[in-house]
Amino acid sequence: MNGMQQILENGSHVLDRVPFPMMLATKDMTVLWWSIEAEKIFGFTSEEVVGLQHPFMEENRTVIQTSTWEQVLHANEPVRLEKIILHTKQGKPVQVSVIVNSMTIDDELCLMFVYEIGNYQTADQPPFNQELASLKNGLDETFMLTYLNVDGLITYANALFIKTSKWTPKRVIGKSFWQLFPEHSTDKGVTQIWHALKSNRVWQGSVEKISRDGDAYWVDMTAIPVLALNGEPLYFAILEIDITEKRLLQMHLEQIAYVDPETGLMNRHHLESIVSKMITEKRNFYFLYLDIDKFYTLKDMHDDESDTTLLVEFAKRMKMYFQDSHIARVGEDEFVVITPLSDWFIQGFLTYLKQHPIYIRHKAIPISISGGITRYPEDQSTFLHLMKASSAIIHKVKQQGGGNIVSLSKANHAALSRKTIIEKRLLEALNHKDLQVVYQPQVDLHTGKVNTVEALVRWEDNVLGTVSPNELIPIAEETGLIHDIGTFMFEQVCQQAATWHNEGNSRKISINTSVREFRDKNMVKIVRRSLEESGCPAHLIQIEITEKFALEAESEKSIIRQMYQLQNDGISFVLDDFGTGYASFRYLQLLPISELKIDQLFISGLLQQEKLQKLVHGLIQFGKSMDIRVVAEGVETREQFDLLKELGCDAIQGYYISRPVPANDLERSLKNLEI
Ligand code: C2E
Ligand code: CA
Ligand code: CA
Repeated sequence: MNGMQQILENGSHVLDRVPFPMMLATKDMTVLWWSIEAEKIFGFTSEEVVGLQHPFMEENRTVIQTSTWEQVLHANEPVRLEKIILHTKQGKPVQVSVIVNSMTIDDELCLMFVYEIGNYQTADQPPFNQELASLKNGLDETFMLTYLNVDGLITYANALFIKTSKWTPKRVIGKSFWQLFPEHSTDKGVTQIWHALKSNRVWQGSVEKISRDGDAYWVDMTAIPVLALNGEPLYFAILEIDITEKRLLQMHLEQIAYVDPETGLMNRHHLESIVSKMITEKRNFYFLYLDIDKFYTLKDMHDDESDTTLLVEFAKRMKMYFQDSHIARVGEDEFVVITPLSDWFIQGFLTYLKQHPIYIRHKAIPISISGGITRYPEDQSTFLHLMKASSAIIHKVKQQGGGNIVSLSKANHAALSRKTIIEKRLLEALNHKDLQVVYQPQVDLHTGKVNTVEALVRWEDNVLGTVSPNELIPIAEETGLIHDIGTFMFEQVCQQAATWHNEGNSRKISINTSVREFRDKNMVKIVRRSLEESGCPAHLIQIEITEKFALEAESEKSIIRQMYQLQNDGISFVLDDFGTGYASFRYLQLLPISELKIDQLFISGLLQQEKLQKLVHGLIQFGKSMDIRVVAEGVETREQFDLLKELGCDAIQGYYISRPVPANDLERSLKNLEI
């Protein structure tokens, strides 16, 4: 072997300049020589491998069959083996092409291995392994980097990872991936990551992790499965970047949004989410709404600083007294306590406050509070209803002088639950078209004839009895069911008007509407559809709006637009309850109004008060000057009727003429009219 030794000693200088990893082996695969480049790429030093049996770089040592070497040994041409996976000393897989050449040195048959890694070295490209190395360096400096084997055990962790996770390099190797997460997240989040990796997918997202000391830290993670040629995962690379600070800042911001900064109590928003959660969990609780009485007077007496002190001290007392309760600040001087503690305990807070007065500049400040208690689920079933009901109680308490905490009284309770029942049953009544329409005639004083009637809704419910429009309409407006009532009324009224029209008794029908109905962009469509379906001529329909409606319509262009569209169709508009609200003559210029209805309020006192007579006279004159018809409603007596006629009124409506009656009874009641 002298010759060979020599060649190796002299030749290695030359061969070591070849920019490929190389290896020389005997025919029975004992390594004779290992190039410097091979040391660099595979991590094994020459001393470690010379004399060893090849293939030491193949993990399961079966990738290249021994029979292959037999073939190579007897071939005249070099043999090229493609896409072979070898492992570095660190266990990292590297894909190579191997060129094997047989050669005879000193009569001994040897094998020269040249390893090509990727697309090795083209003219102006850095060698691939060098590129990889730079990339890896870059990643190492920026990311925490760990490798997992396919069983999820850590095989490698870089310095950044060690620094943040507080593990020692020795101890972290072999730990399972799951051990790096806090216990509570193991079921959901981590399984997801693991599942993605196992299905050969990259996973990306933010996760909470835990250091060796048990401290939580947050990372943005990219988990990458590294696949072999056959598509099987070889190992997993986990790149992480520490985002704990960002996360803490975000949590702090969320907290600010959730907490009242002055008192440290939760804010209304947070309270609402807590209450909603308790409601979904069907947990019983008392809902206490508290308000500091005369807070504003107190404010005048003190400066900003003492106001803050007062609030902070008050909040402290609430926290002391209502332990195991949720306390929120929901307004300037308004608070809500959600508590499992019952009425009498809650009311005891009044005494507690007296025993623990608040001092400002060594002076005890007398504060009095008003509170309302509502129970869930007995009294109210939503956050909004609990708020409303409790604040309604406070309103009453304050009217009676404040300084008291009252729970929803039986009367109140009945009223509130009646409202809830109305809401429920109204929905059903509308579905079954169980509402009725009654008509109240209006006498035209110029002709003595009834050519207009007002349609009024009626609801007779089996459970609730008669529900008057004055009770029904506000609830319907609040719940949005007013749209359904409106649609129902337009359908019924158009049909009725068409029927009378076809019978040769053409009469205008006046319908009451709420501004909320006109906020629906489809209002015009709904009215037109009712007209078309019934064949009712548009000029037989008149729409009544209130002054409140007019006030709101003034600033909403789409309402005005819809009114003009309907007017173009032939529908006319009446300003109802004229004089009771925000009477402004502006509406009459802005909105398409052709009739005024003087409210009953002016009519009932008409005979007794001369001032009212002058006012009504003025209104009538005003209408005439603007070419607007003036109608008086709520006329109950002959005297009122005569006086209004004298004052120049155009039409009269009221019990004196007829009560509102069903359509079928109208003809009969008209016959009795003697004007
Ligand atoms: P309103 O439009 O001012 O209707 C006149 C109310 O006065 C009617 O009450 C009517 O029955 C009553 N009334 C008529 N003549 C006399 C009288 O001589 N003396 C007295 N004391 N009262 C008289 P009703 O039917 O209870 O309706 C109350 C209110 O409910 C109506 O006031 C109207 O604003 C509203 N409303 C009724 N039906 C509807 C509807 O279908 N839709 C909408 N949005 N509101 C309606
Ligand atoms: Ca009306
Ligand atoms: Ca009216």
